[in-house]
Amino acid sequence: MEFKEWTGVTAENTDDCIRAEVLGREIEFSKSVFPTSIKIEGKEILYAPISLTAMFSDIKGEWTNQNVILTEKTDELVRYSVAQTAENLIVNADVTIEFDGFIRVDLRLIPFWSFHKDNMPRLTKLYIDIPVKKKYSTLMHFWPNCESGVCLSGKVLNSHETPVGDTHFAFKPYMWTGWENGGIGICCESDKNFELDNSEKCMTVSSNEEYTNIHIALLDNAPADWKGRRDEWGNNINPITYSFAIQPTPVKKFNANHLREWRAFHLGNIGGSRENAANGSIFEKVSGRGDTLLEKIAQKGVKWLILHEDWSAIQNYGLPYDEERFKQLARDCHELGMKLMVYFGYEVSSLYPGFNDVCDEYLNKNIYGNFVGGWQREPMQRDFTVCYKGGYSDVMIDRVKYVMDVLGVDGIYTDGTYVPWECANEAHGCGYRDKSGQLKYAYPIYAVREHVKKLYKAVHERGGVIDTHQSSCCMMATLGFADSYYDGENIQGMLQADISNMKMDSFRTEFMGLNMGIPCNFISYTDDKFTMEIISGITLLHNVYPRANTLSDLDFVSEIWGIYDNFAIDKVQWFPYWEKQEISVDNDKAYVSYYKKDNALLLIITSYDKNASEVKLTLDGEYNEARNMLAPEKTVSVDGKMLTVPVESTKISIIEVKR
Ligand SMILES: [Zn+2]
Repeated sequence: MEFKEWTGVTAENTDDCIRAEVLGREIEFSKSVFPTSIKIEGKEILYAPISLTAMFSDIKGEWTNQNVILTEKTDELVRYSVAQTAENLIVNADVTIEFDGFIRVDLRLIPFWSFHKDNMPRLTKLYIDIPVKKKYSTLMHFWPNCESGVCLSGKVLNSHETPVGDTHFAFKPYMWTGWENGGIGICCESDKNFELDNSEKCMTVSSNEEYTNIHIALLDNAPADWKGRRDEWGNNINPITYSFAIQPTPVKKFNANHLREWRAFHLGNIGGSRENAANGSIFEKVSGRGDTLLEKIAQKGVKWLILHEDWSAIQNYGLPYDEERFKQLARDCHELGMKLMVYFGYEVSSLYPGFNDVCDEYLNKNIYGNFVGGWQREPMQRDFTVCYKGGYSDVMIDRVKYVMDVLGVDGIYTDGTYVPWECANEAHGCGYRDKSGQLKYAYPIYAVREHVKKLYKAVHERGGVIDTHQSSCCMMATLGFADSYYDGENIQGMLQADISNMKMDSFRTEFMGLNMGIPCNFISYTDDKFTMEIISGITLLHNVYPRANTLSDLDFVSEIWGIYDNFAIDKVQWFPYWEKQEISVDNDKAYVSYYKKDNALLLIITSYDKNASEVKLTLDGEYNEARNMLAPEKTVSVDGKMLTVPVESTKISIIEVKR
């Protein structure tokens, strides 16, 4: 296994059953082309088998004559060809199970016995159901949060509690349902060959007290191409093809040490240009006196310095202005005990050498044949959105190898790299033509997945890690190949207006990462009113750091790191607010998560009650000392089990109590 965080895939099969095991998950296909049992950490999450239903007027097809044929087996994947029949239809499928629990099912449905003169195709309806036990489907996520993944909505939270009743969606390339510690995601690259009466009801999430069902409608009627046709030797009725991928999460073991190890400072505007080069900034040689910018950053406890886009003269191309000066920066970081991470992204720059020859093949195109994105920066360039199904995948990975091998860089920050934005560039095989010849979008999930697998391999072989910014896309088929994610940009304006626009269930679904298997940092574009105290008020309840971009915000985050180190939080048990706790708070708009030692508690408290100036907590035992860690001037009082904490709505309080 080249992917060290995983253990590979083991599988066995009979004629009508496949049983496979990957890290933390067991999957079974019993007389079906879709999983009939999925266990996460030993617990069955399916309420009933995932099913493909074919209707023949009033008759519900019963799948029989299953045949499972092993076609490939390695450490990393197993692949089977599967055959079944129902009425006068057959389904053939390639079922591939990969080491990270990615289960791809490529299906084709074909009329059978159809040379018989009376045997016309009879299929009239086709759909998939994915029923998950309620306990394991209280939360849901879909992507994108509007019609376009390229131009996301800044106002729609696409992660939240699963609503009771039926919720309809137009086609979505990713839909996930789960709970705080796991779930199941379904990917599909496009709605090619979907024929629906109402495209707004392509996917329906139905939830009741017992289960949540994700229903995917494929055909509401007989396929137009089959209707009334007779199959002939010289003029066949073509198969209808679909491809879905199902993935139980978390996809890997969550890094329990992330709060200690993953302490990042994200720096833009580093003064990388030639004019600024003489002015010092982070390139100023470390003096040993502690007065250079780099030393000041290191003194705050930063373990990873992340340089945003302008470290590279050409966007997403990993090319510093001055190679020697940059190598010195990397050496200085190492000398100060920091690692250096640099920006790569989602773009091909108009400054990229050879742009004219490759732009039509490398770039993402919309259905009108135009490029998208088009970021503007200095040196004067436009940076258009790449599609990693095209040839820039290899270019980017080569440049990543160069910055790690030659410049001494330790890790890669990736902006948008893991997001399979919709693309209709036929030059590299994206998009599809519908029956009328109209060009339609496809989401290149499989190509982006292969790209980030290669990227992950290149970076990890070199001992590095990858952090990725994915603006609300939590598709684990790709995101599993990052080490952490950095989310919240697209809704930042909405949160700046009022932090209570963020809902707790949304945070638990999208911004915590326990359910997916990777840690999150929260994007924090602070201003006078939208401060780290407010942002951390929600993030730290979930063990998520807000990431500092400015030195003053770094001061705040550094204080948190110090408090956490002093309490040694990675060695004690954490009791998040949504799980059973032995303490209670007197205000239902106040939340408390805490760490517990034998003789002490570290309490993270945030109240969203605008009228409350204090909250009272009943603790799990008697304590006799209390300290207000972030605001020592505001005294807290503890009297046996009763703790009174002064609070300011939306702002974090951290209180330590001792016996
Ligand atoms: Zn494309």
